[in-house]
Amino acid sequence: MSHPRNAVVIGSGFGGLAAAIRLQSMGFATTILEKHDQPGGRARQIREKGYVFDAGPSLITAPSVLDSVFRAGGTTLAERLKLVPLDPYYRVHFHDGTWFDYSGDTEAMKAQMRKFEPRDADAYDKFIADAKPIHKAVMLDGLGASPFDSALGMLKFIPKAIRLKAVIPLYLNVSRYFRDFRHRFLFSFHPLFIGGNPFTSPSIYMMISYLEKAEGVWFTPGGMHSLVAAYADLFVEMGGTIRYGQEVRRIDVRDGRAVSVKTDSSEFPCDLVVSNADVGHTYRDLIDARNRRKYTDAKVAKFDQSMSCFLLYLGVKKKYDKLEHHTLILSERYKELVRDIFDRKVVPEDFSLYLHTPTRTDPSLAPDGCESIYVLAPVANNRSGVDWKTLAPVMTERILSSLESWGLEGLRENLDVLKVVTPDDFQHGLNSLDGNAFGLTPSLLQTGFLRPHNRSEDVDNLYLVGAGTHPGAGVPGVLLSAEAMEKCVRQDYGLDAAAA
Ligand SMILES: Cc1cc2nc3c(=O)[nH]c(=O)nc-3n(C[C@H](O)[C@H](O)[C@H](O)COP(=O)(O)OP(=O)(O)OC[C@H]3O[C@@H](n4cnc5c(N)ncnc54)[C@H](O)[C@@H]3O)c2cc1C
Repeated sequence: MSHPRNAVVIGSGFGGLAAAIRLQSMGFATTILEKHDQPGGRARQIREKGYVFDAGPSLITAPSVLDSVFRAGGTTLAERLKLVPLDPYYRVHFHDGTWFDYSGDTEAMKAQMRKFEPRDADAYDKFIADAKPIHKAVMLDGLGASPFDSALGMLKFIPKAIRLKAVIPLYLNVSRYFRDFRHRFLFSFHPLFIGGNPFTSPSIYMMISYLEKAEGVWFTPGGMHSLVAAYADLFVEMGGTIRYGQEVRRIDVRDGRAVSVKTDSSEFPCDLVVSNADVGHTYRDLIDARNRRKYTDAKVAKFDQSMSCFLLYLGVKKKYDKLEHHTLILSERYKELVRDIFDRKVVPEDFSLYLHTPTRTDPSLAPDGCESIYVLAPVANNRSGVDWKTLAPVMTERILSSLESWGLEGLRENLDVLKVVTPDDFQHGLNSLDGNAFGLTPSLLQTGFLRPHNRSEDVDNLYLVGAGTHPGAGVPGVLLSAEAMEKCVRQDYGLDAAAA
């Protein structure tokens, strides 16, 4: 097959940017078409009255994965960004007034655990030792960075997954190591970071605990959006093009192959298409039904879409020393709250909150003496039928008032900026089906081979990257999806990896 000349990437989320850098480095003249007026997608930036907010991702993990994208573009992470380690990674406040500074420091972790349950402190090493080989399989042996699209590959992996206990529900597995409710939470909640249910997600996600310990949790001056900007700048320096305000309406398919991409105003003929848009949106809304044998409308409707988020962006004319850079404030209910979000799809009166306060580390993100805070409450996706126009103001009041009672005194009277994002914004702003915040739920039945593949199963020359594809959500996950896409393209076009 001759080397094609140009590629179009739909969407400039982290997956799209990484895909575009990799395509450009493989010799494709690459154009990103982005619906919005800035890159990043979920990682876009919100600025108002001198306050700067990362709209979504805030914890930087797996710097080695971030670096691999820069290296594909001929540079390095160290050359482009300064990373600042965070210690603790996050402070977790429990309903009973106790709290825990979660970090990668074994002795600091055990010392805190000993106070709650000495036997749990003794089990910590074993937990980490058992998480290590799972991390190795996914991150070091390349499972996450390779297309998981053969049934044979899955069959080969199953015995290993069983041996590593990677298929047991995570919370159940964690409960075998730890007795105290706090420790059971701390070592099982990570799937929530990527839209998964800790009580049903497979223990393969124990790897996140190990990943954070091995590679740390970081911040970069300016916030996560500095990473977005660094990738976008690199792509443009490499000769790539980003066109903003271009919502793709259709991927044209001829004789089973993607041949062009259409927006309202233009047509972009191309040799290859990568979609970074929501998987369900890509198949259902952009590709004519007669070109979809696997991802029919009925199949897309059956996707188990991940949960969503209710977010407040607060510019506050006051400093709050009670907040760490990353703070979790938990409801007394864990399992039942998770069931409300994932199974019952209702919005209860109580909530667990995650607060991102980057001004604790980088005061330049707000005016002097002020704090830039975002508050995230995980909520059911829009299959809940909730009318967010009605509920948003109610929920906003509830959250602000509960934060004041918790210790952020004078929060409401010091508010300078208040912006609210609901599942409707994910659905309509980001074209995410059912307002999902993390693509498809990372359940056992939507993991690996069973997740939408990076090489389209319906259309030749179409590839998919981003949270809904293999390996899944989270910044490292979507960057790895672009590496898996690169491997598919190299195979399909007979490109030699060494020639890159
Ligand atoms: C609130 C929140 C907090 C998070 N926190 C963290 C964290 O701390 N750490 C972490 O690692 N991960 C975190 N995540 C997960 C992480 O942000 C996402 O998994 C990741 O950013 C998704 O990237 P993506 O490549 O799938 O693209 P997306 O960010 O989903 O971007 C897709 C892009 O496609 C564009 N698009 C869609 N349809 C079209 C169309 N038809 N035409 C043109 N453009 C289109 C959209 O405008 C968007 O820019 C968080 C997510 C959320 C929502």
